[in-house]
Formats: sequence, C-alpha cells, structure tokens
Amino acid sequence: MDEARASSGPVNGLSVDVEDWFQVGAFETVIDRSDWPAIRTRVERNCDEILALFDAAGVKGTFFTLGWVAVRHPRLLRRIAEAGHEMASHGWDHERVFRMDAATFGRDLDMSRKAIEDAAGVKVSGYRAPSFSIDARTPWAFDVLAEQGYAYSSSVAPIAHDHYGWREAPRFAFHPLADSPLVEIPVTTATFAGRRLAAGGGGFFRVLPYGFSRWAIRQVNAEGRPAVFYFHPWEIDPDQPRVPNAPLRSRLRHYTNLGLMAGKLRQLIGDFAWGRMDELAAREAERAPTLVMGPGGTLAPAGALAA
Ligand SMILES: [Zn+2]
Repeated sequence: MDEARASSGPVNGLSVDVEDWFQVGAFETVIDRSDWPAIRTRVERNCDEILALFDAAGVKGTFFTLGWVAVRHPRLLRRIAEAGHEMASHGWDHERVFRMDAATFGRDLDMSRKAIEDAAGVKVSGYRAPSFSIDARTPWAFDVLAEQGYAYSSSVAPIAHDHYGWREAPRFAFHPLADSPLVEIPVTTATFAGRRLAAGGGGFFRVLPYGFSRWAIRQVNAEGRPAVFYFHPWEIDPDQPRVPNAPLRSRLRHYTNLGLMAGKLRQLIGDFAWGRMDELAAREAERAPTLVMGPGGTLAPAGALAA
C-alpha cells in the first residue's frame, strides 16, 4: 500500500458529487422534483462523515455541489470550504445537460454558481455535468461554460454506455474550444483488450471488487496521467430510506455494498496520491491538446475543420 503511494505517480483527482439520496437519476421516474423539499435530507450528515474521512487521511478534494443543496445547507458548504476543499458546481437540480438548450443551461449554471459562492464564500471555477451529460448532443455546452468564466469542466465520460457517454471523446484532458483556455478533464477510463472501461468511481467502484479500481488507476498512472475519481454522499450511507417502487435494476445498483464503501474509500485514498480538481486541471491544461467538436461528435485539432 505504502509502496504505491510512495511511488512518484501523478496526483489524482478526488471528487464528491454532492446530491442527496433522492436526487439520483435512478429514482427520477418515481420521485418528482416537486417532492424534493418535503423529503428528509441526509446530505449534511453524509458530507460530514466524508469530511472526517478525508481529514483523517490528510487529503483534499473537490465537492461538485448542486445549487439546490447549497441554498438549503449553507453552513455545510462553508465547513467544506474552510476545511481546504474546492467548492465547484454540479448544476442546479441535476437536470442533464442534453435535456437543456444553451439558454437554459446558461441560467442553470449561473443560478447554481451564485448559490454555491454565496453559501461557501469562495469562488467557483469548476463544473461537473449531472450524469456526465456533456456529449455529442450538446455542441454548445463548452461555449456556455467559457462565457461564464469556468476554468475547467469534468463532465465527459469517454465511453459508450446505455445512459450516457461520448465515445469519440479522448480519455484525457483536452481544450474543447479554439479561443478559450477552458479545459475538459474526462472521467477516468482504463483500457482492456482495446476497449474502454469506466473506472472513475460511482457505482462501478462500489459494486465491483476494490482490486478492479486499483488495477485501473495503476494502469492510468503508468500511462503518466492522473485518474479522476468520484463518488456520492449517499453511497456511504447504509441507513438511507429505501425507495420501494423504484425499478428493480435501479434498486439493485443503488443499494449494493453501501456498508462497504467507507472502508473501500480509505483503502483507495491510502493507495494513491490525491488532490483537488482545480489543481489537477491547471497541471493538465499545460499539456492538453485543442480538439474541437465536428459533425456527429467527432473531435479534430483546431483549424482542421476550417479547411
Ligand atoms: Zn450527480
């Protein structure tokens, strides 16, 4: 364990997508947004547990937070910021970017950033789209992020998946616009037999044995690149209320191994070097190529399309 951490591997990005147990995509068909204000919230206690875990391990990370959570839990956001972690945006109420148009996305970004900055008292420069929903369907999304002054986004899953993914996207950092320093840091994938495997966390980390994640992050670090890892506050909470009428597949995935998560996280944090996403983005921006979106979600070096 110590051997891996002591090696001179890259500093990986540690991130938490701050949303409550009832705000996940898996339950959107059975819990309406209009029901949210009446539901018993668990996000504050769960984030406090994560803060304690990070503090004990001596690591800093990034908390991509919903504006909806920020206006209801301002003291939590202040505690996160005061502990030295980065506050960043996860949008307003978890609407996926590909379900919005450019103007709606702009309002969502603006509202959520103001809510987070007001609550935490720090500036927001990073964004993660709900469910990694920036893809071939949203060619305007990076322009909107750049207009609003974001330094980085970590919103792309460069894989083919049933709910999300942009399979043409590169595995590592790129500048998606020719005229902006904005950098996109895709969530981590490993490669096996020529295929990309999702290896950045979430359900994959919780459901699969820890050895898979360790293998994947070692592989990425051996390529000389940092991994980007994410999880959610509800994933460390075995006592959260159950949603009985949700689809079976959603329930199976949502409730598997919740009790094992804290231990797995401690192991992961101990095995590798971790830090904030804004610092990772600044390092990666220096070597990131500029790749702009063409027809059908293809990406090409800036200027190649103009010819
Ligand atoms: Zn989310």
